[in-house]
Amino acid sequence: MKYPKVLEELMENFQQLPGIGKKTAERLALSVLKWEEEEIEAFADNLLNSKKAIKRCSECNNITMAEKCDICLDEKRDNQVICVVEDVKKIIMLEKLQIFQGKYYVIEENITPFLTSEKIDQLIKPLIEKVRENEVKEIVFALKLSIEGETTMAYIAKLLAEDDVKITKLAQGVPHGVDIDYVDPLTIEKAFLERK
Ligand SMILES: [Zn+2]
Repeated sequence: MKYPKVLEELMENFQQLPGIGKKTAERLALSVLKWEEEEIEAFADNLLNSKKAIKRCSECNNITMAEKCDICLDEKRDNQVICVVEDVKKIIMLEKLQIFQGKYYVIEENITPFLTSEKIDQLIKPLIEKVRENEVKEIVFALKLSIEGETTMAYIAKLLAEDDVKITKLAQGVPHGVDIDYVDPLTIEKAFLERK
C-alpha cells in the first residue's frame, strides 16, 4: 500500500528541510496527523507569516521586519568596523556573546570559481561600497575556516588593497572546516578578541 498523495506531498515538503531524510520526513508527516486542527492551522500560519513578514536589511542582509535591522539602526554601534558572516545564525550567536559593537554584513554565499562575475558582484558590491562610504577601519571575517571562506576573504582583501582598511579574521582555536556554530562560546569569544 502507498500513502495517500497528500501525505506523500507533505513528506516531500519535510524532506526539503535541512537534515531531514526520507525516514524522518515520514515520521514527521505521520506525527502531524495526530495534531489538533487548530495546532496545524497555527503551524501553517507561522510558516507563511515568517516568509511574508521577514525581509532582508537593506544595509547588511540581516533579517528584519522593517527596511533596516535593529543593529544597523543603532547609532551607538561603530560604523567603522564590519564583521562579515555567512548567515544570520552567526549574528545571533555573536550578539549573545556581547563582544562586538560594530556592524555586520551577511555575505550569504562564499566566493568560489563556479560563480559568475555578476553573482560575485551582487554578493560583495554592497560591502565594498559601505566600506568606502563609511571609511571603515576594520573588516573582521567570521566565516567558516575553509577553502571557500579563505577564498572569499582573499578576494575581498584584494579589492580593498588600496583602501586604508585592516582585514582581520578570527584567531586560531576554531578548528579548520568547522562551522563556528558548533564551537563553544568561550572559544569563539577568545578567537574573536584575539583576531588578527
Ligand atoms: Zn542591517
